[in-house]
Amino acid sequence: MDLKSGYPFWAVKNGLMKAFPPLTSDIRCDVLIVGGGITAALIAQELADDGQAVVVIEQRDIGWGSSAASTALLQYEIDTHMTELAARYGEDNAVLAYRACADAIPRLQELATMVRDVDFAAMHSLYFASSLFHAGRLKAEYELRLCHGFAVRRLARGEIREQYGFSSAMAIFSDLAGRIDPYRFTYRLLMQLQKRGVSIFDRTRLASFASSSRGVVARTADGMTIKAGHLVLAAGYAAQQYLDTRVARNRSSYAFITDPIDAAALGPLANTMVWESARPYLYMRSTGDGRLLIGGEDNDIDIALRRDASVDRKAGILRKRVARLFPHLPLQPAFAWAGTFAETDDGLPFFGPHPQHGPRVQFAMAYGGNGITFSAAGAGLIARLIRRDQHPLAALFSFDRLKQKKHQHQHQHQHQHQEFLDENLSLRRLRCAGVFRERALPELQRGAGLRARRARYLHPAAGRSRAMDQRRSAAQRPAVPAVQERDRSPDLQLGGRR
Ligand SMILES: Cc1cc2nc3c(=O)[nH]c(=O)nc-3n(C[C@H](O)[C@H](O)[C@H](O)COP(=O)(O)OP(=O)(O)OC[C@H]3O[C@@H](n4cnc5c(N)ncnc54)[C@H](O)[C@@H]3O)c2cc1C
Repeated sequence: MDLKSGYPFWAVKNGLMKAFPPLTSDIRCDVLIVGGGITAALIAQELADDGQAVVVIEQRDIGWGSSAASTALLQYEIDTHMTELAARYGEDNAVLAYRACADAIPRLQELATMVRDVDFAAMHSLYFASSLFHAGRLKAEYELRLCHGFAVRRLARGEIREQYGFSSAMAIFSDLAGRIDPYRFTYRLLMQLQKRGVSIFDRTRLASFASSSRGVVARTADGMTIKAGHLVLAAGYAAQQYLDTRVARNRSSYAFITDPIDAAALGPLANTMVWESARPYLYMRSTGDGRLLIGGEDNDIDIALRRDASVDRKAGILRKRVARLFPHLPLQPAFAWAGTFAETDDGLPFFGPHPQHGPRVQFAMAYGGNGITFSAAGAGLIARLIRRDQHPLAALFSFDRLKQKKHQHQHQHQHQHQEFLDENLSLRRLRCAGVFRERALPELQRGAGLRARRARYLHPAAGRSRAMDQRRSAAQRPAVPAVQERDRSPDLQLGGRR
């Protein structure tokens, strides 16, 4: 699977930072990690800290998958609002997911400080309402987050105009966010782990594996055998090929970066990332050398050639959209690219074992818009699962949540919510519950009703075509792990320096 088109800025800026050797003999280890992206690096770090003998294999070069294409906004704010997660899985779980991502940012900062020189910076985040209709939803979101102790401020139209110079009905301003060079960070972390004894092999592809109650035997495409106590599949979007049932939809996301912009012109964008409530959303953030990195315009394209062909056009659309907000900025794209991006139904990742492969095989699927914060949160979870310890995120990030049907979530939530109101005497908690009931739920219900009516009006045969799509995609999916060639050339076809 080609994971990106054009010239991802990070790969151009840093080049190939180091060639690790390919695996040329049979080996044994405690944990084999498949994948050489940011998720694998973060998991390897946790496991090495636990004293495990770790082997990492990557089919291409380290960091050359989606991690090289990532725009790397580090946010605790999940693409799915806390209010929506609360409606689906209960308020406690929603807060748990947000809290885990919030804790991931200082963790990433700590690691960035340790490996040094990876363009990490703490930032603010401005999440603005794309339309007046979204303002109510954002208000409910703001109040629920505030209630649970997240450092957020609500900005009204006048304040947004005064501080940022564009118009929106309302915005949520958060203190906690960050940015990083994801490619450089992956390399530097893995290089440091190699010095600590982690064995890293690139140009080594997992061809097959068999798991039993005692461990895993993996075979590489070059015929080497790796015997491991545990296998972690941190293979990014390719990891889905190891499952018979589909757990996420692959999408394409587009980005471009400008040349360095004068600090005075960049103004508050130098330390504030900006994104919006529409889906797919437009987002932007600065880099350490004063460039503006802009992304969005996601679509359902999962075919590399079609994605390649869209890079320039999408960069043009993104540029126009940002120019409407910040007409004074020089927004000529210096590099433009696109990457594969997967979305789960609820915006949460999957970390943990799947019944299809048993407890010795852990999946690390950091899917969703803030995949990197999910990776940092999930890395600790995977390490604990391997140690057979409990972890508060184990259930929420597990595949078990696929079993629950949507109406069950709603029913369960309403029941839990009533129980909670009846039993909980804490004033603060009651205020949160009140906020949720009075603002978030009606907003969600109104939104769901409108969406359903609009969908019925626009696509009367939508149900039928979705079923056809599902059948078609099931037929296209390979029954066995697909063979992927090590080939950099298709990733670097279009876009690039203008
Ligand atoms: C355009 C774009 C913008 C994004 N923006 C953000 C953002 O702003 N913030 C954020 O948090 N996240 C963002 N993401 C998501 C984030 O980049 C991903 O969640 C993250 O990079 C995933 O890292 P990974 O290590 O799981 O996957 P990858 O980086 O794809 O690494 C997986 C690796 O596994 C290897 N592999 C696969 N199969 C095998 C095999 N059989 N044998 C050996 N190796 C194998 C692949 O070659 C690949 O290198 C963005 C993604 C894209 C594409």
